[in-house]
Amino acid sequence: MKIRSIHNKLIFIYTLYIKYIRYLYTLSIMTYLLIYNTKTRAIEEVKPIRVNKIGFYACGPTVYQYAHIGNFRTYIFEDILKRTLRLLNYKVKHVINITDVGHLTSDENDGEDKIEKEARRQRKTAYEIARFYEKVFKKDIRRLNIEEPDIWARASEHIKEQINLIKILEKKGFTYRISDGIYFDVLRFRKYGELWKTAPKETRARDNITIKEKKNPQDFALWKFSAPSGADPSTIKNFPLRDMQWPSPWGIGFPGWHIECSAMSMKYLGKHFDVHAGGIDHIPVHHTNEIAQSEAASNMPFVNYWVHGNFLLVGGKRMGKSEKNFLTLDELVDKGFDPLDYRYLALTAHYRSPLFFSLDALKSSRNARLHLTTIIQKLYQTKKKISKKESLKFKDDLLETVRVDLDTPKGLALLWSRIEDISINEILWADRIFGLGLNKVKPLKISNKIRNLLKKRDSYRKGKNWKEADIIRLEIKKYGFEIEDSSRGPVLTSLSFS
Ligand SMILES: [Zn+2]
Repeated sequence: MKIRSIHNKLIFIYTLYIKYIRYLYTLSIMTYLLIYNTKTRAIEEVKPIRVNKIGFYACGPTVYQYAHIGNFRTYIFEDILKRTLRLLNYKVKHVINITDVGHLTSDENDGEDKIEKEARRQRKTAYEIARFYEKVFKKDIRRLNIEEPDIWARASEHIKEQINLIKILEKKGFTYRISDGIYFDVLRFRKYGELWKTAPKETRARDNITIKEKKNPQDFALWKFSAPSGADPSTIKNFPLRDMQWPSPWGIGFPGWHIECSAMSMKYLGKHFDVHAGGIDHIPVHHTNEIAQSEAASNMPFVNYWVHGNFLLVGGKRMGKSEKNFLTLDELVDKGFDPLDYRYLALTAHYRSPLFFSLDALKSSRNARLHLTTIIQKLYQTKKKISKKESLKFKDDLLETVRVDLDTPKGLALLWSRIEDISINEILWADRIFGLGLNKVKPLKISNKIRNLLKKRDSYRKGKNWKEADIIRLEIKKYGFEIEDSSRGPVLTSLSFS
């Protein structure tokens, strides 16, 4: 018996030792992603908390309206971030939340719940509104070739977790109660606003809405009552009845917007995780508040790398619902664009720079994307291959470009500068980063009739009968193909692409 227990202990120590060696080995061979961390205002190596595993949380949509292409710019950059991490051999666990309750019209503590308001306008329930726009959002994500997260987390399905977190904050003395809810006292959290202070100036403008009873203007709601002082709303006359409300230790109500992201990210990724991303508009309020709640509750650092994407601008102004200058993906499709044309456009600007939107810019992106499609179809015909060494060199160079703070404009420039020297294999590899759906490009369907015409043309050309050869070229054109004579023989391109 004793021998067996010693034996088990030795096996245990040996397994730990092997794991440790493997850990050191992984660290030594890993190539890290370099990313700009809003927290430190510096470009840093992304060193995971757990060997090569990355916990990645991205703030998701508030599902009360169609998302616009400005919103999608953020999700595209986050998708590039995830794809690059995976190509660098990090194992990524990605969570996106669905805000289906608690996001108020002022984005802070005041105003109405966006979803309940829209539900009343459309004479539907808040659940109907939320589920409808969630479905549309997910469809748009797929059309933009954005990989879905490992976990979609709905705020309304994590009420228990949010209440538990507020209870911890209450116990630690970070909360106080006023007539419309339970609030977080920012002055109790010494490091409040550090992220916001390190952020660029233009993102620091704060909404100055204050509720009189609040101790500080920046204090924010953790739990909002459906009725004043937590009374049963059904007993109060003229009080707008809500579809989404839950009992809590403080009264019937609903959670604030910020607490959902703290509760759900910590549930799925742990109290301390690696990467949290979103738009730069989230820095001064939403993310600042997430940090305050989470760190106050856990006494631990919340997130190591805060990564923020810049705005989409139209005529010098941010595209947004409040500006009423937005376009949805459907509207772009109605104008004859493919959603992936927009994805291409998004990649032409660095994620930390503003992207200037215009239909002309979108047209150029469409042309570039279609040009890539044509190149792939030609390569299918010529069956070009390059050496393993050349192939590796291209992949290394491209990954090295994007590895440094996700420089997709530089990455695209590199792809175009080497396009004559590479084969389909390398283009499709590049598309594992860019995600332009190039793997779905099919070889051109060339019928036997056209093949025979090509043979005929070839024999005329060999006999230097240029006139007859040209007549056949024009005939082939009628079928919708242009002929190009390459060193590997004639290749066809579809006229529908030009
Ligand atoms: Zn969030």
